[in-house]
Amino acid sequence: MKGILVNYDYCTNCHSCEVACKKYLDLPVGEFGIKVSEVGPFQYTTGDLKGKYEWSFVPSLTKACNMCADRTEKGKMPMCVQHCQSWCMAYGEIEDLLKKIDGETRYTLLTTKA
Ligand code: SF4
Ligand code: SF4
Repeated sequence: MKGILVNYDYCTNCHSCEVACKKYLDLPVGEFGIKVSEVGPFQYTTGDLKGKYEWSFVPSLTKACNMCADRTEKGKMPMCVQHCQSWCMAYGEIEDLLKKIDGETRYTLLTTKA
């Protein structure tokens, strides 16, 4: 099974993935195939993180995502992955993507229905 791995510690919330996908799927205003959510900003007040800020951006696939089937079956990258400005997205077999997780930065693994 294929998926998209996002090292979201490096996501800048540039929205390029959203725009590239919307053009590819020809979606109207307000609809998305991939959507970036914002977490924070807020400041931790207790524990080891006391005084540090949280401000993260985390992409999610919607039900409209078809994993760019007509592109990937020809060996091309999904549009969102190709246009990521931070190169923090990777497409491939789930087993191969899992090997990229380094335990040093934060990742999210995105899949669709088979
Ligand atoms: S894989 Fe293709 S359809 Fe799915 S979110 Fe990315 S660009 Fe959109
Ligand atoms: S294109 Fe990459 S850096 Fe930009 S919002 Fe999407 S995942 Fe984040």
